[in-house]
Amino acid sequence: MDLSRPYDVLVLGGGNAALTAAITARRAGASVLVLECARKDFRGGNSRHTRNLRCMHESPTDVLTEAYPEEEYWQDLVRVTGGKTHEQLARMTIRQSADCRTWMVQHGVRFQPSLRGTLHLSRTNAFFLGGGKALMNAYYRTAEALGIEVMYDTEVRDLTLQDGRVSSVTVVQDGVTRALRAKAVVAAAGGFESNLGWLKEVWGEVADNFLVRGTPYNMGRVLRVLIDKGVKPVGDPTQCHAVACDARAPRFDGGIITRVDAISLGIVVNKHAERFYDEGEDFWPKRYAIWGRLVAGQPEQMAFVIIDAKAMGSFVPPVYPPHQAPSVRELAQAINLDPAALERTVTAFNRAVRPGTFNHAILDDCTTVNLTPVKSHWARPLDAPPFFAYPLRPGITFTYLAVVVNERAQVLMQDEKPAGNLFAAGEIMAGNILGKGYLAGIGMTIGTVFGRIAGQEAARHVIG
Ligand SMILES: Cc1cc2nc3c(=O)[nH]c(=O)nc-3n(C[C@H](O)[C@H](O)[C@H](O)COP(=O)(O)OP(=O)(O)OC[C@H]3O[C@@H](n4cnc5c(N)ncnc54)[C@H](O)[C@@H]3O)c2cc1C
Repeated sequence: MDLSRPYDVLVLGGGNAALTAAITARRAGASVLVLECARKDFRGGNSRHTRNLRCMHESPTDVLTEAYPEEEYWQDLVRVTGGKTHEQLARMTIRQSADCRTWMVQHGVRFQPSLRGTLHLSRTNAFFLGGGKALMNAYYRTAEALGIEVMYDTEVRDLTLQDGRVSSVTVVQDGVTRALRAKAVVAAAGGFESNLGWLKEVWGEVADNFLVRGTPYNMGRVLRVLIDKGVKPVGDPTQCHAVACDARAPRFDGGIITRVDAISLGIVVNKHAERFYDEGEDFWPKRYAIWGRLVAGQPEQMAFVIIDAKAMGSFVPPVYPPHQAPSVRELAQAINLDPAALERTVTAFNRAVRPGTFNHAILDDCTTVNLTPVKSHWARPLDAPPFFAYPLRPGITFTYLAVVVNERAQVLMQDEKPAGNLFAAGEIMAGNILGKGYLAGIGMTIGTVFGRIAGQEAARHVIG
């Protein structure tokens, strides 16, 4: 690789947004160098953990049922973000999501109909055949065939950014520091969710008990350098996507198989064996992303979901087997909770359940009465042995602090003027659209839409 050769477009990062930008820029005629700080076998950031993206569509397709029009998508986004979103950017993303799949298929990605499980997404989300790992491998194969060069194990440490223009990018590979000349740059290096020190700055001591569901490489270095050098930030650093993960999961990279999806089918208690939130508030795809934060608010950031034999087979089982016991008392002993306290909580819950017709596919009438917190739907007595427990910890997916961009994916400086040759895509700018909350599958939509725009605009900037 001849690094004295000036590349038209330097792409910082090696996930979905980066590769989408790189492929688009290359197809527009630019020479492209991708700088990925992971080793080759760990390339692809959080994108390699994904399963689907959310697409607007007017009629059924090969893998999506019915229709999911712009207005419904927009209303869903407004609901989950509480209106903390940039309408123009969000609506543009939604509209452009309609033809993402065609582009993705052209560049090697394959789709499959959604499988049955607790995430009822067959209408809204298109699933990748082979998951995010296969998607990323397809993009890297396409990139290679197009002549895009990739430096692995290469960390971007710094940028020279003056008067809104990047003139060089400093990288470190094998302990060697190099400054690469830049004509145009696409920043697609993710958020700061893997940076335990930064998480602790924001969240305090509780961050010691967070699990990072994805890549260990998203340290937020590029995000911090850009903000320090005068790029306008957007978003609250404490806002993030965080789910309830099996507490036995590894600190990093546990991925989707460590997420526990049984919550709406049982009760969740903290280390004092007390319930603390409505487990049946809404459909699981609309609620799973609040449970990381809820567990983070409990003593020692620890909780347990308790279910009985009736729930088994109704959710996608996580990779770790549950603790199991013939009685609630013995289950409490197995998970080191006070047996009397757990029995009290279960008995009070069972007494409060109002009989109804259980149906997990609708917001059914199985609720509790005179119980705090209420369980609004899918409340059934825990009375069918054996009883099971999964231990839970907060599992952080990605952070929302971001750089401000416009519709051309240009990064805006503090004075709101667009940087001349600096573009951003993916998690590093997703906070423009996601002020809080989350809509399953929109992370990959934002990365694909903005990756394409950033690649196009970066190439246009260099070669006209
Ligand atoms: C377990 C899990 C499941 C998920 N499932 C879904 C899903 O099904 N659908 C969905 O829409 N979203 C999902 N998400 C969220 C999704 O992963 C992100 O929204 C999306 O991947 C962001 O893409 P990206 O390219 O911006 O970031 P990433 O894919 O994380 O890529 C960032 C890249 O930057 C590199 N990098 C970081 N710092 C540097 C540096 N200093 N120098 C060089 N390179 C650097 C990293 O190595 C990485 O390659 C999931 C996330 C996780 C963790």
